Amino acid sequence: MNNFHCKACGLLVKHNGRPTGHCDKSGSGNHDWKDLGEVGDTTYKCKACGLMVDSDTRPNNGYCEDSGSKNHQWEKL
Ligand SMILES: [Zn+2]
Ligand SMILES: [Zn+2]
Repeated sequence: MNNFHCKACGLLVKHNGRPTGHCDKSGSGNHDWKDLGEVGDTTYKCKACGLMVDSDTRPNNGYCEDSGSKNHQWEKL
């Protein structure tokens, strides 16, 4: 199971394989998923946008609207 984050609306879901579903904020009408990696037992928080993700290892960079580098700035909680 992986953490998926929609870069258009900010929805975070834990899902086996890429989730589907309608997204109001995405131009295509579908969520624009970024795969943040496998779900684990450690919580990581992005310093820029505040997104929290459960993962055993540092989550993938993904896409962060609030970060200057557009990568999430993960720190272990
Ligand atoms: Zn979305
Ligand atoms: Zn972020």
